[in-house]
Amino acid sequence: MDQAKEAAKIVVIGAGMVGVCCALYLQRAGHRVILVDANEPGSGASYGNAATFASYACIPVNHPKLLTALPALLWGSARPLSISLTYMPTMLPWLLSFLRHCRRTEVNHIIRALGVLLAHAEDAAMTLFRSADALNLIRRNGTIYLYSSERSLAGAQDDIKRRRRQGVAITELDISDIQDLEPQLASVFAGGILYDDGFQLLDPQQIILKMVEKFAADGGQVLREKVTSLARNDSGDIQVIGGSRSISARQVVLAAGARSQTIRSGLIDPLPLDTERGYHVMFPDSATLLNRPVGLADAGLYLSPLNLGLRAAGTVELAGLNAPPNPARLAYIERWVHRVLPQVGQRGDTWLGFRPTLPDSLPVIGRSSRHPGLIYAFGHHHIGITLGGITGKLVQQIIDGHPPTVDLTPYRPERFAR
Ligand SMILES: Cc1cc2nc3c(=O)[nH]c(=O)nc-3n(C[C@H](O)[C@H](O)[C@H](O)COP(=O)(O)OP(=O)(O)OC[C@H]3O[C@@H](n4cnc5c(N)ncnc54)[C@H](O)[C@@H]3O)c2cc1C
Repeated sequence: MDQAKEAAKIVVIGAGMVGVCCALYLQRAGHRVILVDANEPGSGASYGNAATFASYACIPVNHPKLLTALPALLWGSARPLSISLTYMPTMLPWLLSFLRHCRRTEVNHIIRALGVLLAHAEDAAMTLFRSADALNLIRRNGTIYLYSSERSLAGAQDDIKRRRRQGVAITELDISDIQDLEPQLASVFAGGILYDDGFQLLDPQQIILKMVEKFAADGGQVLREKVTSLARNDSGDIQVIGGSRSISARQVVLAAGARSQTIRSGLIDPLPLDTERGYHVMFPDSATLLNRPVGLADAGLYLSPLNLGLRAAGTVELAGLNAPPNPARLAYIERWVHRVLPQVGQRGDTWLGFRPTLPDSLPVIGRSSRHPGLIYAFGHHHIGITLGGITGKLVQQIIDGHPPTVDLTPYRPERFAR
């Protein structure tokens, strides 16, 4: 195969929300950047998500209650969480580490560390959305989270208090408030909350494409190439090797989402990255049924009214990167949609996406221990759309040796070396 040799200062691998934000922050700081993706930008996890900008989302999936609730959550298809028995042996080390991070002290640490990133998320992302002329793809109307029973509402009170302590603005909603805000919803909820400052993207991929357009217009290079390996070259730089070309880079940002550990290289630390698979079902004619994203706490889903229609997105399936889509997960989502919005129209496209998740539900943002020019920016699990901007800003600060906006200790890759 022809190997085109190109000299570049910084290569960013992955043009999802995280990689594109890294590329833009680096470009804004004056670097020459090449953005490489195997597919169309914004077509990975950043495509089919629930599109909520969730600055309130400091409570991780890791939870002390999971230690006792896990067996019940895994049993049967009527649950928000499912695990493939065939994938279980492969995933066991991740799962055990995940459970260790469900202890209260660990969870408190995660909440603080996510809260710190989330506090800077909106400013960092909006800077890029604005400069890409994408503000027309944002809608600010708050985000609702609803509970089906008094029991689940009562069970959420501790987490609501924790979010408030992190500075999240929350208004409690009774049944009539819910009806006022979202009159089309069936009366199947015991109560809920409004995240007053929550907002949504009306089309996540379009926003990413607008940012890529801006990046290219300002001189950035965008390549369609699957990166297969990374190697140290004679000059000590990193050789980014794909099927049809090989690029030398002084610095490389690895932002390939859930596939960040599939690239062969002795330069990449073996980090415990796995995936929490999630699904969506579109209802193209039903976007007008809701005024804002509505989270269904007991279903593990959001219903998000987008430019493309109503999107029901969520659930967690532990089954790795290679298993085919699971129709039972899609049927589960559809059942919930019909229960809470009986008048919903025809179902459209369905989608399976791969959240990149480390067992402590914190991203890795920091340098490789094996090559100082390799910087990790992956593992944003349920909130990568929200955290892309601040991650991009932090990566630029790492590369430029500037004091970071936040203390990077909780996100260091070395935390798994213990
Ligand atoms: C159902 C669901 C709902 C969600 N809802 C929300 C939400 O409401 N709000 C929120 O903030 N987050 C949400 N998320 C999470 C969010 O979508 C992810 O955290 C985020 O998209 C991760 O972005 P990323 O850039 O790291 O990964 P991706 O978007 O997956 O991008 C990685 C890119 O790397 C490329 N790539 C991979 N391997 C290679 C290679 N070898 N060579 C070149 N390119 C490569 C891929 O093609 C891809 O484009 C949701 C996720 C799911 C699944």
